[in-house]
Amino acid sequence: MNLHMNYIGGQWVPAQGGETFESRNPARPSEVLGVFQRSTNADVDAAMAAARAAQPGWADTPAPQRGLILDRVADLLEERRDDIARTIVREMGKVYAEANGFDIQAAINTARVMVGEGRRLLGQTVPSELRNKFAMVVREPIGVVGAITPWNLPILLPSWKIFPALLCGNTVVFKPAEDTPLTGIKLLEVLIDAGVPEGVVNLITGYGAEVGERFVTHPKVDMISFTGSVPTGRTIASLAGGELKKVSLELGSKNAVVVMDDAEFDLAIEGCLWGGYGTSGQRCTAGSRVVVHEAIYDRFLDAFTARVEALRLGDGLDEGSQVGPLVNAKQLDRVASYIGVGEAEGARRITGGRKLDHEMGGYFFEPTLFTNVEPTMRIAQEEIFGPVVSLLKANSFKHAIEVANATDYGLSFGIYTQDVNRVFAAIRGLHTGVVNVNSPTMGVEIGVPFGGVKNSGNGLRESGTASIDEFTELKSVMVDYSGVHRRTGVNEAATRT
Ligand code: NDP
Repeated sequence: MNLHMNYIGGQWVPAQGGETFESRNPARPSEVLGVFQRSTNADVDAAMAAARAAQPGWADTPAPQRGLILDRVADLLEERRDDIARTIVREMGKVYAEANGFDIQAAINTARVMVGEGRRLLGQTVPSELRNKFAMVVREPIGVVGAITPWNLPILLPSWKIFPALLCGNTVVFKPAEDTPLTGIKLLEVLIDAGVPEGVVNLITGYGAEVGERFVTHPKVDMISFTGSVPTGRTIASLAGGELKKVSLELGSKNAVVVMDDAEFDLAIEGCLWGGYGTSGQRCTAGSRVVVHEAIYDRFLDAFTARVEALRLGDGLDEGSQVGPLVNAKQLDRVASYIGVGEAEGARRITGGRKLDHEMGGYFFEPTLFTNVEPTMRIAQEEIFGPVVSLLKANSFKHAIEVANATDYGLSFGIYTQDVNRVFAAIRGLHTGVVNVNSPTMGVEIGVPFGGVKNSGNGLRESGTASIDEFTELKSVMVDYSGVHRRTGVNEAATRT
């Protein structure tokens, strides 16, 4: 059995408490992928100290040189993509094409964008109010960044944090989710082999509930960049707030797709299928609510049900599989519990709803579809994070937008329509961070910022160049070369010079 270590200060080291834990394949839980360090606060302390010690030297390394290391990171991800994709599939269950084509490709794209940012990291020059004075804004690293990520996108999400944080001159302590430590280690190996210096990136594995508080409040960490659930996000925000640390939160959602009566019907069916059931619904961008115009509701329900029932469940490494297992037994039970919740509230289960762990050996759950769903029902309000989609009926465009917005979340919503007026009205009317027109809610392009409103985040954005704002401080610089002592002010400038 492979025993894996923490990576601190350039060394692979065991956790100081001597405890370990296993990572297992959710498609066949008897398969153990490896044994990992169950870190404690002492390991957090060591990792933070290493990151702090390495930070000044890394900040002094010219940004273009930091960028060149990320170019090598992209090359190595390309070279190792098959191995890493297989690891993702075996560790958290999604199908191979998603792991390879989405997770890893997004990480490669992120690294490539950061290479270019190494030659930009743009500040500003600003016209001074005074003669013989120069004003500018430069970017500086924040310091030590703690990166905490979930298991569902175990390469993409760490890369969105670690690559820009490093490019901006920060050092990093990374804690991957306890369900995907091996994928986290594979990413670390890429960074090490690409030439990231000792101490600049550090990894500790273990349980968030055990090391989280120390991680977030540690005196040597300057910023926490977190992606995960709303409850954990709240805990982290309040802990970080007490210490006045910068914190970025990308949280959950209950996304809606509006399908209007003039939609390209087959396109909408296809998009809602992928948006709802891709990654077994375990995506913050999953389109778990589909709001359909009443004029096409029955036709949509019939066609969609047929497609849901035809989805092929299986091990993500089998070529024919379209939907993999859920990540672990706890998540399987959690998703299953929502079936009773929906039925008790009066929703009608059209298909699915059963755990398939006994039949299939892994944590599989039948793709499930509810109809007769009202916007206020729990299955329409709470993030289930499984292959469960609720259909809601709308009697007009205005009503559809109201139903879509009737949630505490606002991450990635969408609309299918051929009417350009409705398109722009939806772009304005949907209260969300991302809008998809005639395409699924899942997925985002590297060129646009990613993040949500309401309970889906705290306002910062990730992905591409937007993350430069996340991982830098702005420093305003004023250079007075008049040789005269003067109080700042336009009138003063006119009289004194
Ligand atoms: P969790 O919030 O449970 O876990 C996320 C990470 O936080 C894990 O690394 C976890 O460690 C760690 N953690 C757990 N407790 C603490 C704590 N007290 N202090 C510090 N860290 C802690 O989320 P899930 O694993 O359930 O992930 C799914 C969630 O992530 C969903 O809500 C989903 O919507 C959201 N998500 C958001 C995205 C976005 O960009 N907006 C993208 C993808 C997912 P451990 O694994 O050891 O518990």
